[in-house]
Amino acid sequence: MPKRVYFFGGGKAEGRGDQKLHLGGKGAGLAEMTNIGLPVPPGFTITIDTCAEYWQLGKRNPVGLDKEVLQNLRKLETVTGKKLGDPLDPLLISVRSGAARSMPGMMETILNLGLNDASVEGLAQKTGNARFAYDSYRRFIQMYAATAMGLSKEPLEEMLHHLKHARGIKHDTDLSATDLKELCAQFKKFYAEKKGEPFPQDPIAQLWGAVAAVFNCWEAEKSVTYRRVEKITDLKGTAVNICTMVYGNKGDNSGTGVCFTRDPNSGENVFYGDCLINAQGKDVVAGIRTPMKLIELESKLPRAYKQLCEVRKTLERHYKDMQDLEFTVEDEKLYMLQCRTGKRSPAATFRIAVDMVKEKLISKETALSRISAEDIERLFYPVIDPQTAKAELTARFLTSGINAVPGAATGHVVFTAARAEELAAKGTHAILVRKETSPEDVGGMHAAQGILTATGGKTSHAAVVARGWGKCCIVGCDALEIDYTKKHFVVNGKLIQEGQFVTLDGSSGDVYEGEMSLVKPEFPEAYNTIMGWADKIRRLKVRTNADTPYDSEKAVAMGAEGIGLCRTEHMFFDTEERRLAIQEMIVANTEDARRRALDKLLPFQREDFMGIFKAMHGKPVTIRLIDPPLHEFTPKDKDGVERLSKTTGLSTDFIEKRCEQLHEANPMLGHRGCRLCITYPEILDMQVRAIMEAAVACKKKGVKALPEIMHPLVLDRKELKLLEERTRRVADEVLAQSGVKIPYLIGTMIEIPRAALLAHEIAEVAEFFSFGTNDLTQMTMGLSRDDAGRFLPEYVDEKKAGIFKFDPFQSLDISGVGQLVQMGIERGRATKPNLKIGICGEHGGEARSVKFCHKVGMDYVSCSPYRVPIARLAAAHAVIEEQLGKRATGPSKASASKVKKSAPQRAPARKHPPKRKAASRR
Ligand code: ADP
Ligand code: MG
Ligand code: MG
Repeated sequence: MPKRVYFFGGGKAEGRGDQKLHLGGKGAGLAEMTNIGLPVPPGFTITIDTCAEYWQLGKRNPVGLDKEVLQNLRKLETVTGKKLGDPLDPLLISVRSGAARSMPGMMETILNLGLNDASVEGLAQKTGNARFAYDSYRRFIQMYAATAMGLSKEPLEEMLHHLKHARGIKHDTDLSATDLKELCAQFKKFYAEKKGEPFPQDPIAQLWGAVAAVFNCWEAEKSVTYRRVEKITDLKGTAVNICTMVYGNKGDNSGTGVCFTRDPNSGENVFYGDCLINAQGKDVVAGIRTPMKLIELESKLPRAYKQLCEVRKTLERHYKDMQDLEFTVEDEKLYMLQCRTGKRSPAATFRIAVDMVKEKLISKETALSRISAEDIERLFYPVIDPQTAKAELTARFLTSGINAVPGAATGHVVFTAARAEELAAKGTHAILVRKETSPEDVGGMHAAQGILTATGGKTSHAAVVARGWGKCCIVGCDALEIDYTKKHFVVNGKLIQEGQFVTLDGSSGDVYEGEMSLVKPEFPEAYNTIMGWADKIRRLKVRTNADTPYDSEKAVAMGAEGIGLCRTEHMFFDTEERRLAIQEMIVANTEDARRRALDKLLPFQREDFMGIFKAMHGKPVTIRLIDPPLHEFTPKDKDGVERLSKTTGLSTDFIEKRCEQLHEANPMLGHRGCRLCITYPEILDMQVRAIMEAAVACKKKGVKALPEIMHPLVLDRKELKLLEERTRRVADEVLAQSGVKIPYLIGTMIEIPRAALLAHEIAEVAEFFSFGTNDLTQMTMGLSRDDAGRFLPEYVDEKKAGIFKFDPFQSLDISGVGQLVQMGIERGRATKPNLKIGICGEHGGEARSVKFCHKVGMDYVSCSPYRVPIARLAAAHAVIEEQLGKRATGPSKASASKVKKSAPQRAPARKHPPKRKAASRR
């Protein structure tokens, strides 16, 4: 029979602090505090597994539990020298729930259990305080009736209220012992009427009632909902903690409080908390009386305060992290009732980690492992004011979509990019709501505070573009019925018109009606320290995806060490003049006409590249030649066609025909990527010329440029060979004419499965590979990155199909697509051991994928500017986890010294990639 009950008390506990999964967080904390000699009222914990058994048995206690509980109760009586139900000097207990992770408000604790009509008198006698005894009894009846017996709370609250009214009293504390005794009688009468039986007088019956109540609360609606919302799926149940009562409500020498070992908002190393004199339980947080600051305890209860300061020190030294504590003082004596790792603000997370390293409590590695990608994210993005009431959020909630870019935004609903720009020009905040977005919308997307689309997934146009700016964005919100002509949308029966306010929470994907207040987190100094440590440890370089000098500068400030992807086509949308020039090039039906149009584009591109080279100051810049299918650039309406006709002199008829010709049934697999330059090499000529002329011009001005020219969507060695030869010819010609020497590289993206399979052949030509894992995922899985948003959520949701653990467009599909990546690297380096390899898909900024990139030996990852710090941290985590793994498996002497040597020096990650199995296990 499994051991189901663990005792703690008398300076010893049967359980330990690391048994959270077994004893729950609260039970483990109580056991650990007991073991390290802190004053914890004795008691015992019924395990989480017992709760699971109870549910498996159809809400029945497993055989043997009763005996074990009663044995422990006897033990408790021995330790405390009191007996449960003793009419002269009763032992009273609290019955408390506690899962492996904190689940706020799951169940109300039952305090003062063991009181009945006889023992309440004993308590009054023994303490000489009848008021206290009857207050405890009425609280117990209230809690027991509501929590264990499921009676509604209101009628009893009403009775209390009536009594106070009748006596002309404001505070509960002003009721007399007689009043409270009368109240107890009323409560019991009500209970008997409702339940058809008297209020239980047998303390053992009370105990089993309370234990069942805790077990039952695990499946209560609010717990189930909470677990669903928080996506908690790995917990089995709750433990039950039975704990000797101590009384903070005994008079002015007593009190109760909650505190943190450091300030959870700023992270400052000061003792922080609230307390109340002469109070019990959660009075402090219930808001019945205004609590006082913890420091006031020093003058009110100096002995207890001193003791508490000692406890604070002991616990921090023991847990090596900030703790959240609950305590009670009875007659100047301190009791600890709970401890757990304290929740903290983003700023405090950084500060505490850094301070604790300085205080020599933890190592730099431990400090780094305590910071998560979300902690970094929370520093950079505004959030909905955390003070906002839950009820308000519920009332305003409209719907949920895919959380593409974190942060919150609020503004007036607009349905066109143009309208968003109009509002922005007036300084008014807009939220751009679209079915989907396209490159023409970029101006309005930039002007808007946030973007909301009905379709698309995490790599759809809207998501990718918004991510680049760190702009709040929710996509794939398919409950939205958008009507562009009527300028409104309907969602779950609610109509929202243009101009009305909505608020987006890009972190959760939730959409709310109305304007809500947002707060921007404070930026802690400790952030820079942490990132500095991460940079020292990591070996993977981090580059950025950036198309403009502005984005490049921002990315460098975020720590980017180069550009891994500069998408040249984005430059064509910037102004009407550029748009018309590219359109002219596209509709041209002869090479001559095309060259004339390209000549117009050349100076624009050259200028852009110069700006980017300057911003990057000699850091490598990977520039991808034109990639999307041409039809994406063609005019979309009559007006556009007419304007193009005016500039080109071509008839509108001709232009419309050309646009029709360009239409493709399946553009993602059509005439795009390097296929464009194979058929229209003059596009390549122009782009390569612009790149190299820009590099030359920079060099002449003393700015170093390191261009890496990248061909997208390559699928064959010969294809790349043709492109490479032509690229080299143009580049060398520019260099020869200028008389300047500039090193440059020519490489390819690996984003088609065939390219990964034939990587050894392609590496004969390429000087570098960059894995374009957006397209590689799309083509390997046969899932459209633009449309999969419609059904992928179901694929990922464990409660539904649960086919994938992660959205493969967000977190690399390591077991599938990952194999192609690994194979591509192995085969490529078999041909060219020095082949430079990176990744430039959206995965390059996602922690789990970044760790994979480290494992398979890439040189760098590239991601949008705002995700650069996340990638830097993840790359450091990868090294730390590698070291921990080696330590765990007991390294041979040779490999141990290698870890030490290579880690701080950032040796190039060109070690043997691990066997496939090892890499895909995570
Ligand atoms: P929660 O999980 O909501 O924090 P707890 O089980 O910690 O619930 O109980 C809430 C409060 O009840 C505690 O902070 C403490 O003030 C009070 N409490 C619980 N057990 C005891 C006890 N044995 N003696 C005195 N007060 C108690
Ligand atoms: Mg608590
Ligand atoms: Mg691509």
